[in-house]
Amino acid sequence: MNRIETLEQVARQLEPDEQIQKSLAEKVLSHANDFLTHLDDEKAFFQNPEPSSIDQLSDGPEGIDDILQFLRSNVELDGINAASGGHMGYVPGGGLYPSALGDFLAAVSNKYAGIYFPAPGAARMENMLIRWMNELMGFPSDAAGNLTSGGSISNLIAVVTAREAMDVKAKDFHRLVVYLSDQTHHSLQKALRIAGLGEAQLRYLPVDNHFRLDISSLDELIENDRKKGLLPFFINASLGTTNTGTIDPIKEMATIAQHQKVWFHVDAAYGGFFRLLPEVQKKTSGIELADSITLDPHKSLFLPFGTGAVLIKNLTALYKAHRYTADYLQDLVDSDSEINAADVSPELTKHFRALRMWLPLKLFGIKPFRAAVEEKMLLAQYCRQQLMQIDGFEVGPEPDLSITVFRYVPPAGDANAYNEKLIKAIQDDGRIFLSSTTIHEKFWIRVAIVVFRTHKSKVDLLLEIVQEKVKELNKG
Ligand SMILES: *Cc1c(COP(=O)(O)O)cnc(C)c1O
Repeated sequence: MNRIETLEQVARQLEPDEQIQKSLAEKVLSHANDFLTHLDDEKAFFQNPEPSSIDQLSDGPEGIDDILQFLRSNVELDGINAASGGHMGYVPGGGLYPSALGDFLAAVSNKYAGIYFPAPGAARMENMLIRWMNELMGFPSDAAGNLTSGGSISNLIAVVTAREAMDVKAKDFHRLVVYLSDQTHHSLQKALRIAGLGEAQLRYLPVDNHFRLDISSLDELIENDRKKGLLPFFINASLGTTNTGTIDPIKEMATIAQHQKVWFHVDAAYGGFFRLLPEVQKKTSGIELADSITLDPHKSLFLPFGTGAVLIKNLTALYKAHRYTADYLQDLVDSDSEINAADVSPELTKHFRALRMWLPLKLFGIKPFRAAVEEKMLLAQYCRQQLMQIDGFEVGPEPDLSITVFRYVPPAGDANAYNEKLIKAIQDDGRIFLSSTTIHEKFWIRVAIVVFRTHKSKVDLLLEIVQEKVKELNKG
């Protein structure tokens, strides 16, 4: 009994009193606000010569001021500043402020979002968001779905569900065929491997000069594969490739997939939320015929990292891949109308992820999101047009969405080597962050305008920096 009392004394330190809670919250809030206040003038990339040190944990407590100071210098101002409007590398998103507040509230109430019974409201909230995304993609509103941690897990859920829908057995895994282009995101191959389907054959279809999958041979390839005794399994279309933001011919691919009875997946991790715009809905029609769609609210819906989504029509196959029960879960009461997230994903205990998505959508309404995605598309066009007018610059195809690529072609010497130096100089400068890619042996610099904080002034800064670096490189 003495031991219990002593332990309670110490354990109670885990629940600071109200006064201390308030003071902690104020300090964290003011730290966060200070970060945001300086964000626009702060660099987008910090290259610290010394690797930042994360010191060891100790048995005793430390003060919040020191901890926050440590966080600022060793974590926040280190590497890519992913919240910055100057971050136009890879596929960013920014991280909406109300999402951070949503995360805070989700963590305080610690709702168990994996199953309806312990948190009916949280489950209903996630399912409402899934219905909203289903409608946005032209899916029936009773299609299923899940809020995942990101596009990679969404692709994995789609692949294992397709595997169950086709009822393929291990002895046939090596006979499966997947149809994709070399612009498909590598998380699809990774998902296949995790799903045990690493032996599946990958049929890479050619791309046209917009890097769009060329479907002219698809139907015939599938026929030939069948004749060879193979099992055509999965067709992947990208709604926004990672390299160039290109949209594959979704409708034509959907038609072939339907007629050939092959699972049709649309990877819309980057591009999905551009469907808030009627013109993109037109360009991506046929997506409603897909079997599964991957989305990433942490990209074009600007949420903080850690929020993906998958939408799937075939609930039976989704359950077949993921639904389990256990003796110790015997008192759970299922809802007739609400899906349990745990039954349609690899997760059981689940972060109350819906709140970080629901809060900003409720607070702002959908209109500013629609404006922001259109603004980003126009900014990518603007950036490309400006670069086209400067001597020596070559630009990629007109962007379908908000990613554009460019390179500088020097009067003499190897252009690839030159652009490798150019991207290094831009990154060393750090005021903006861009990344590069190689497409069919050509080195390109990418501009991915996806952070909600990227406005015209940042694109103008980009144009200024790029020209400045070219001048310096040309001087030698
Ligand atoms: C980002 C991306 C992925 C992977 O998503 P994560 O959220 O990084 O796991 C998959 N496909 C495409 C097209 C992407 O842009």
